[in-house]
Amino acid sequence: MYEKPLPVVDTESRPFWEAAKAHKLILQHCSGCGKYVFYPRALCPHCFAEGLAWKDAAGEGTIHSFTVARRPAGPAFKESVPYVIALIDLKEGPRMMTNIVTDDVDSVRIGQSVKVVFDDVTDEITLPKFEVV
Ligand SMILES: [Zn+2]
Repeated sequence: MYEKPLPVVDTESRPFWEAAKAHKLILQHCSGCGKYVFYPRALCPHCFAEGLAWKDAAGEGTIHSFTVARRPAGPAFKESVPYVIALIDLKEGPRMMTNIVTDDVDSVRIGQSVKVVFDDVTDEITLPKFEVV
């Protein structure tokens, strides 16, 4: 049984989680200013236009920053330490907080290229994570 916290799926984020379940990474795109948006929301944070459209993302990026969790954040994380929490600069522009999947947490470096992998944590939820390429 999966005991870690799960994302709350709402109207704005449902397409993102449904795509993740199908092992696809999608991002909102603003036709007003041409920028990509993450996290999912109703209005473009750059130009306040409505009607953001979902587009396929490359699933590629670079590590902007990261930390290695060596003490569990709670009992549910006990089996996972050490693990990497990272901010990824996606190719499309947005920054995403996620995990780096690796057997060697000490090899992770800022600036490394990463690609998305999908972790089916429950029947309903798949978490996009990244691994170094
Ligand atoms: Zn915009």
